[in-house]
Amino acid sequence: MRRIAVVGAGQAGLQLALGLLGAGGYEVTVVSARTPGELLGGPVLSTQAMFGPALRVERAAGLDEWEATAPQVRSVDAALVPEPGVRALEFTMTLDEPAQSVDQRIKMARRLSLVEERGGRVEYRELDRAGLAELAAAHELTVVAAGRGELAGIFERDAARSPFDAPQRRLTALYAHGVGAPDPAAGPRARMHALPGLGELYLQPALTLSGRCDILLWEALPGSPLDCFGDRPPGGEQLRRMRELMAFHLPWEAELWAEAEPTDAGASLYGAITPVVRRPVARTTGGVPVLGIGDAVVVNDPITGQGANSAALAADAYLRAVLERGDAPFTEEWMTALFEEFWDRHARHGVALTAALLTMPDHLQAVFAAAAAHEPVARRLASTYASPADHADWLATADLTAAYLASVGAPAPDGH
Ligand SMILES: Cc1cc2nc3c(=O)[nH]c(=O)nc-3n(C[C@H](O)[C@H](O)[C@H](O)COP(=O)(O)OP(=O)(O)OC[C@H]3O[C@@H](n4cnc5c(N)ncnc54)[C@H](O)[C@@H]3O)c2cc1C
Repeated sequence: MRRIAVVGAGQAGLQLALGLLGAGGYEVTVVSARTPGELLGGPVLSTQAMFGPALRVERAAGLDEWEATAPQVRSVDAALVPEPGVRALEFTMTLDEPAQSVDQRIKMARRLSLVEERGGRVEYRELDRAGLAELAAAHELTVVAAGRGELAGIFERDAARSPFDAPQRRLTALYAHGVGAPDPAAGPRARMHALPGLGELYLQPALTLSGRCDILLWEALPGSPLDCFGDRPPGGEQLRRMRELMAFHLPWEAELWAEAEPTDAGASLYGAITPVVRRPVARTTGGVPVLGIGDAVVVNDPITGQGANSAALAADAYLRAVLERGDAPFTEEWMTALFEEFWDRHARHGVALTAALLTMPDHLQAVFAAAAAHEPVARRLASTYASPADHADWLATADLTAAYLASVGAPAPDGH
């Protein structure tokens, strides 16, 4: 049996651990800072929209147990709000495959229990660098899946790949019951509103501890009037402020929130993420190389919903690489090559797409304008969120975008 340790019990770590246990031949230890009970009784962790490619990976791994209960989101209604109360450029982005959001508190609590049921060992403690050194010395491979926690600091920031050095948005999210739907007969749909100079609002139906709910993710430009949750108010006050701002900027949305209530005492989330890419391998204080995965090495702002998707795809890629490695040693060179392959094939595109959405260059604005009039553009945009590698083929430069828009008869970006 090969001995493998996974530090961190989130999307990346638990999926990888369960994959190894499913494959057989691995003695797996997971170190988790939180017990299932602490997760279930604690605050929400993410808004965790997952798209088709990541959900397919979970399905193939037998980790799709919420598919019948979680709302299946087939489209996203997008609108530009150029000034308070005005909706412009409305269009619907139809997804190639349904997306879904299952509260990570439910998901990770269940997966922690599954690790133990399937013969893995879970150590409940918050690991520090000394603990990591001890753990790594006792295992053939140690994967650090500790998310944005302090431990990720062992991986050096890769300046050339890190697009920003400060948060581009201040985030707040709320899980709520009682939110109306613009067209209840249309089935579960997500909604996004872009407010130039202020930020973006994303709404999506999801599954939480108390059943179906709606999640509002509030992406405020730092210093803008939407950036008013720095004091992290409790859910009731958070909702009151959100309603007040919606009543001014998006009165049609405020109406839908008239009867809303936070789902539970942990329904609110606050933060600000500095997008960062780190080097994938670090050495412990004992000199043993450890491998990073998920948010521990690639962190995106959630504006494009890439993080959990990328973590799921990374867990799948790392699992395959470990299985292919057979009995050979897990060397630093192997770790680096594994990450580079994943970076090249997937992660770099999510980083680039997210950076583009955060900064909205002119050619991307032209894409959104074109999407309102040309259904194929809206569909391709939706599909790029789910499979960001397509970003390189049509959104990476103004020339690529101009060529694509011309091919569908849409107006070119300014200057083309
Ligand atoms: C507001 C918000 C909204 C988001 N929305 C989306 C979205 O819609 N779609 C999407 O794909 N992504 C979204 N994300 C990002 C997504 O949640 C993360 O990218 C994803 O959860 C990363 O998974 P991970 O396993 O790498 O890390 P995490 O999920 O952060 O898991 C890390 C785990 O490690 C544990 N840990 C940390 N340090 C230690 C330690 N020292 N010892 C032991 N355990 C430790 C933590 O407790 C945690 O359980 C969002 C994030 C935020 C903040």
